Amino acid sequence: MHIAVIGTGIVGTCTAAWLQRDGHQVTFFDPREPGEACSFGNAGSLSPSACLPVGMPGMWKRVPRWLLDPLGPLTVRWRYAPLVVPWLVRMLRHSTKEEVTRIATALRTLLEPIFDCYGPLLDDAQANHLVKRTGCLYVYSSREIAAQWAWGMNLRRSLGVRMVDVDQDELEAIEPDLKGRFRFGILAPENGSTLDPSALVKALHAHCMDEGAQFVRCAVTGFERQGRHVTGVRTRDGERVAVDGVVVAAGAWSARLAAELGSRVPLETQRGYHVTVRSSNLNLRHTVMAVENNLMVNPMAMGLRLAGTVEFAGLKAPPNYERAQALLRQGRLLFPHLDTSEVTEWMGHRPCMPDSLPVVGTAASVDNAWLAFGHGHMGMCMGASTGREIAHLVAGRPTQVDLTPFRPDRF
Ligand SMILES: Cc1cc2nc3c(=O)[nH]c(=O)nc-3n(C[C@H](O)[C@H](O)[C@H](O)COP(=O)(O)OP(=O)(O)OC[C@H]3O[C@@H](n4cnc5c(N)ncnc54)[C@H](O)[C@@H]3O)c2cc1C
Repeated sequence: MHIAVIGTGIVGTCTAAWLQRDGHQVTFFDPREPGEACSFGNAGSLSPSACLPVGMPGMWKRVPRWLLDPLGPLTVRWRYAPLVVPWLVRMLRHSTKEEVTRIATALRTLLEPIFDCYGPLLDDAQANHLVKRTGCLYVYSSREIAAQWAWGMNLRRSLGVRMVDVDQDELEAIEPDLKGRFRFGILAPENGSTLDPSALVKALHAHCMDEGAQFVRCAVTGFERQGRHVTGVRTRDGERVAVDGVVVAAGAWSARLAAELGSRVPLETQRGYHVTVRSSNLNLRHTVMAVENNLMVNPMAMGLRLAGTVEFAGLKAPPNYERAQALLRQGRLLFPHLDTSEVTEWMGHRPCMPDSLPVVGTAASVDNAWLAFGHGHMGMCMGASTGREIAHLVAGRPTQVDLTPFRPDRF
């Protein structure tokens, strides 16, 4: 079949790669270069352990504080508050222990096979050098403080995630840069990360192009249909391209296209920031998650990346780089010896659903359109497994993962 893949982020690119392995002809549509939107500047962690949703039990108690602190780990811009409050209420409804257990169980099914699903794509694209599997260290100021997060950690363990307690001496031995501030850690040895998320997407995309994909550098504005069948896509330039099927993988911008295919979904963006310290004098070997600070620190090809935070302000508001500066201040606090003389800043739009589960499935009112978006904080992790599952749907094969929790019509 000739399949239109809308979006050249990690999800669209991995999906295209899996479709090509089945012999389909792919045409990408995107006004941007591959891997230049949210898949550009994320923390790059590839974590089978990252199965906890954003909305955790007890989170509602912190809502008032978020509203008052524009530089806090989770903030809502006042002007955007009326639009997003109903969505936040939905998210909080999914934060009971029962819901979190259900969501984590579902997320784990797409996260557990991360490396099995990336493996063949990395081999094909000769991009194995962009992924390392050195583990992730969750670090805390003390073992007692870590106990506050024990429920979530135990949930991870109950779902088969390997987590190893690391006491202060061992922590300082394996990561000398953590000396002083952190006295307890939990190692997730099976985790990995990418040295450059954008380069990873570009490498996978380049291989798809080598294998005969086409790339239309334009936004898709709508679809041509005959009954329950999409026959073509329309672009902003007025072009009409005939296709046999469509995959919507347009990240945070997917909702309008999905609605046109009959699936109304409550997609919201949680904007996140990074600072990348180019001249880093730290020698971290692991990805480090400073849990109390909500800060992910990852040594990458271009420097040390400090990423995180959530800002609700929609798709159009300009970035508030004060938030990136706040990340840098956290970094200096945690690593007083960090050389921050040369840094870059970035903001990206995470595509998020209120239940923290992506949308992976067939669109409601057509039989040959598939939806693959809403991966929130874990799109790099779940890109390849989502692509594999979409390829199964397109082929009419049984899926390897039970996609029921990710159905587009669950809302
Ligand atoms: C600060 C931060 C840290 C993060 N850290 C991690 C992490 O460590 N690990 C992890 O797994 N995830 C992480 N994430 C999340 C991850 O980056 C996203 O989930 C992921 O990049 C989403 O990929 P995507 O392909 O769905 O969307 P995107 O990468 O945003 O790609 C969507 C593409 O669709 C295109 N598009 C939009 N509209 C149209 C249209 N109408 N027609 C054609 N094309 C269109 C856009 O131009 C874009 O290129 C992080 C995110 C942030 C912000």
